[in-house]
Amino acid sequence: MIVAKFGGTSVGDAAAIRRTAGIIRARLPQQPIVVVSALAGTTNALLAAAEQASSGNLVAAIAGVQQLRERHLAAVQELAGSGPESQELAATVSAFLDELAHLVEALSVLGHATPRSLDAIASLGEQLSAPIVTAAFRREGIDAVLVDARRVMVTDDDHGRAKPLPERIADAARDLVVPLVLANRVPVLGGYIGATVTGVTTTLGRGGSDYSASLIGAGVEATAIEIWTDVDGMLTADPRVVRGARLIDHIRFDEAAELASFGAKVLHPNTITPAVARGIPVLVFNSMRSEGSGTRITADAPRVAVRAIAGKGNTVIVKVRSPRMLGTPGFLQQIFEVFARHKTSVDVVTTSEVSVSLTVDDDQYLEAVVAELRQCGDVGVERSRGILAVVGASLAANPSAMATAIAAVGDVHLHMVSLDSTGINLTMVVDADAVKPLMQRLHDAFFPEAAA
Ligand code: ADP
Ligand code: ASP
Ligand code: MG
Repeated sequence: MIVAKFGGTSVGDAAAIRRTAGIIRARLPQQPIVVVSALAGTTNALLAAAEQASSGNLVAAIAGVQQLRERHLAAVQELAGSGPESQELAATVSAFLDELAHLVEALSVLGHATPRSLDAIASLGEQLSAPIVTAAFRREGIDAVLVDARRVMVTDDDHGRAKPLPERIADAARDLVVPLVLANRVPVLGGYIGATVTGVTTTLGRGGSDYSASLIGAGVEATAIEIWTDVDGMLTADPRVVRGARLIDHIRFDEAAELASFGAKVLHPNTITPAVARGIPVLVFNSMRSEGSGTRITADAPRVAVRAIAGKGNTVIVKVRSPRMLGTPGFLQQIFEVFARHKTSVDVVTTSEVSVSLTVDDDQYLEAVVAELRQCGDVGVERSRGILAVVGASLAANPSAMATAIAAVGDVHLHMVSLDSTGINLTMVVDADAVKPLMQRLHDAFFPEAAA
């Protein structure tokens, strides 16, 4: 059994969905379970409509809903033809879009959106794409069957970034998904969405379909988790940012996890964890070029000094300074407890005798965090920062690689530098607008064109 996940561009329109069907047909002997994202751009459009409606711009929100209706119905018509199955599908799709219109109107009346109502809206992208892909597969002769992901992906109720409950997911996958595979059928589920134990719809956080795929893969003990996307695999850097980024054939779980956490959007940061727990290889392929060899992510790729560079912007540094820190047991614990209480996760940490700097991506609760931290010492907040990560399993063991990284930084202002405890990730915090140029410089230093 394998799990094959197709991202937004891989199901972006009728032609892409047909290509996806071809990929699955070729994999029928491996007993695939299919996880799909929303049609490319849909989740953004849904969240934009919610934001417009709740901020008083109902006209724009309804126009957005109408565009989504036209786009999804066009895909239905192109893929499912005009028979009774197609009419049924068009009715299903229209019903979801009516629901969206009602939700958007409700938000406009209320004048604000709750995380729970945003999940109800954001989840519609995958609730729409999964039946469309299922119908398209059936039309292409694949015995596909739709499974409501919310019955499988059981989560807590932290709306917008719900945490999955892996044991319940494994049980549900064994009960609802595996029997279909054993009957030679192809289950199709929407990624990203789930539900609480009481059945309230949740989402796993943006880009979460990869995570859905790996949770289901772990649940059914799949032999591989395939991530089909719009690039040839994991590359030595984001090809949208860095010229000359190259395909990585084989990469270690820990390296891929670090890269994903520090900006390599090709994988959701949590994707690797369930796969590691069961030792399941994660394979990344290009759905536009299915003949490519892709990237293989396993525990045992050979160690190299530098595998890839990642980067991200929108980082906030929080600095806490206090002479009390000196020799006070539990001081850092107090600081971390403040972040934990406000559900804010910390990315990078550096300390001196009397100060600690921490970075966060999510500034939703930052005001409350800072107010509480003031009880620990002087607090400074620096916005418009970004993070770069140089990742390789033998990085710290290789002094010349470390020297190359530091030399490439040149005159860029470094706000924080950290090497993790396993010596695999050299992290640097810089001004946000320095991230892209420095990524290129680091990439040029470690992966010179001539060596390609
Ligand atoms: P999908 O919709 O298939 O999930 P995403 O847009 O989430 O696709 O992820 C694919 C994108 O990730 C690529 O188009 C690429 O720009 C970006 N990306 C960032 N870092 C990397 C990397 N190291 N290797 C490959 N792609 C990367
Ligand atoms: N559709 C969701 C998003 O855009 C989940 C995903 O594509 O992985 O975030
Ligand atoms: Mg993605």
